[in-house]
Amino acid sequence: MKNHCKNCNKFISKNKEYCSDNCKKEFNKKEILEIKCIICNKIIYKGTSKYEQKRKTCSMKCRDILKKQKKWEIRTCKVCENKFEARKITKKEMCSDECRKIWAAMPENKEYRLQRTKEELIKKYGVDATFKLESVQKKYKKF
Ligand SMILES: [Zn+2]
Ligand SMILES: [Zn+2]
Ligand SMILES: [Zn+2]
Repeated sequence: MKNHCKNCNKFISKNKEYCSDNCKKEFNKKEILEIKCIICNKIIYKGTSKYEQKRKTCSMKCRDILKKQKKWEIRTCKVCENKFEARKITKKEMCSDECRKIWAAMPENKEYRLQRTKEELIKKYGVDATFKLESVQKKYKKF
């Protein structure tokens, strides 16, 4: 009876697992590692190649989810100083709606906001009023 070499599939005598020591070494190198997908917990087998060593997920789908997760970061809430997770693309500074309300109700923030609205009003209606005044004066000159 003959047997297959575990590495190269060559026929060998039955009491051996590999045709040569080289094949034994090679096979051990290729040994598959069992890991869990860090997204869905599915068991996957990865090889020893550089790419496979870095692998943490079972599929492209899980890899995309992992990528998105990396875009989150830990921030400190400006109000309660709790740590919270926020997407890097957002400018979120408070951990919750509650804290956002507290922040907006803080006297210094309220005043700052009021001041800005006033300035904007002057910019908007101040210019508008001057323009109206000029056209009124021109009309008077005609008479
Ligand atoms: Zn072999
Ligand atoms: Zn997965
Ligand atoms: Zn907070």
